[in-house]
Amino acid sequence: MRWFRFLRKKKKKNEGFCWHVYHTNLITYCENIKGRRGIIKETKSNYEIPRRLRYFKLVEGDLSEDCLKAVKECRWRSYTLSTAHQKEIEALHEKECSRFCPWNGKKMVF
Ligand SMILES: [Zn+2]
Repeated sequence: MRWFRFLRKKKKKNEGFCWHVYHTNLITYCENIKGRRGIIKETKSNYEIPRRLRYFKLVEGDLSEDCLKAVKECRWRSYTLSTAHQKEIEALHEKECSRFCPWNGKKMVF
């Protein structure tokens, strides 16, 4: 029965570019979203957990290939993105994230 396939829930993506994976990074390539969510739940303070989880989500819109490459490269380092890339990312963040987002331009303020 082929029609049955449509009823199956689409598997959630567990990897990709995400907003607010870490409180000091606006955008990060996350290789294990479920795992990172688990770490947040286990290691962060009760006050931070719900806020971190609320804003940690997949980037939906498009960023240029060049920009995505730069984001991937600066993963564990503090930001070394060019101003043009930063502007591109910030514009998309403003579109996709809540206006209550605690990001102050450099980190999340809890
Ligand atoms: Zn945000």
